[in-house]
Amino acid sequence: MKELILLGASGSIGVQSLDVIRNYPNDFKLKAFSVGNNTSNVASLIKEFKPQAVYMLDNNIVETFKAQFLEVAFFSGDQLDALINFVDADLLVNAVVGIAGLKPTWAAINKSMHIALANKETLVAGGDLIMNLAKSKNVNIYPIDSEHSAIWQCLLGSDKKAVKSITLTASGGSFRDLDRQQLANVTKADALNHPNWSMGAKITIDSATMMNKGLEIIEAHYLFDIDYDNIDVILHKQSIVHSYVEFIDYSIIAQLGKADMRQPIQFALTYPRHLKLFGGSSLDLKSIASLTFEEVDFKRFPLVKLAYEVGRAKGSKPIVMNAANEVAVNLFLNDKISFNDIETIIIKTVDKYKLEDVASINRVLQINDEVKKDVFNNYLSIIS
Ligand code: MG
Repeated sequence: MKELILLGASGSIGVQSLDVIRNYPNDFKLKAFSVGNNTSNVASLIKEFKPQAVYMLDNNIVETFKAQFLEVAFFSGDQLDALINFVDADLLVNAVVGIAGLKPTWAAINKSMHIALANKETLVAGGDLIMNLAKSKNVNIYPIDSEHSAIWQCLLGSDKKAVKSITLTASGGSFRDLDRQQLANVTKADALNHPNWSMGAKITIDSATMMNKGLEIIEAHYLFDIDYDNIDVILHKQSIVHSYVEFIDYSIIAQLGKADMRQPIQFALTYPRHLKLFGGSSLDLKSIASLTFEEVDFKRFPLVKLAYEVGRAKGSKPIVMNAANEVAVNLFLNDKISFNDIETIIIKTVDKYKLEDVASINRVLQINDEVKKDVFNNYLSIIS
């Protein structure tokens, strides 16, 4: 029986994680979960899973729950890592959106919990610190992101020294068939309409700008300890080949499947076992008939190029890029800026901040806060 903490239980990955836990009641015990502002299912989840502790963002809402569920310990506000420190578990499933996932991951690794990670911002902003701590605590980080799960599955049983390169596939997002001029007039609804994957709003916008692929390049660098020179990206519109590894004998192993996040989620929870995926079905390559692959054009998708530069620079640069992106995506989702402004804000902000070494998680969070305030207060002048 594996004891779990699930962060981000009301989001897309969280809801699907709960299904895995439901489908294998003898394998998993949900000891705690968190939600942000979406508290509509919290009462029923408490009744179903009987957790020891629950986190909700809003202080006032938590107060109303305390009286109803006396046996549950409640946390709120900035206490997400306090919940981790309070609960003992084997595995933290981190499906929080954004940099908010960093502190609880840090707290869980310090308690020697293994991590199933859907929160890529944790590794983008805190990669060196997180991986060093994980190594010293003998903690495994299991990827949930589909590309990284694919690479992980391709690498199982092989010698790391035999790896030549890894290639992340990219669907290209909602606007992959538009040129840069056509991007000027796209709407929020267009951007949120991903051709292949059904996901949360932030990652769907990140996919449309391809910032998502940029974040994934940095995430892959840390997860698999592989040099940026040996990480490639390729446009693959069908999202069937989820990524692949080339070995030094030029053999390529790819992982294929439907665009269904339940497979990588379940494997991160059940590793090393492949268990039946309830509600799943076979990928029928005959009906797909053809798969296409194209080069990613850095002029069309400058944020992919930026991510390589920022990843190689290390230190504060990835933190700045991630913070600028989080604010820009929020501004876009709140109709304050146009789609192309997201890119402008990120590029200009990364350029503005000088590179510095970052030696602690607190410093990561300070830089993040500073950049976010700056971008939020000054975005009109940045885009003008
Ligand atoms: Mg992905």
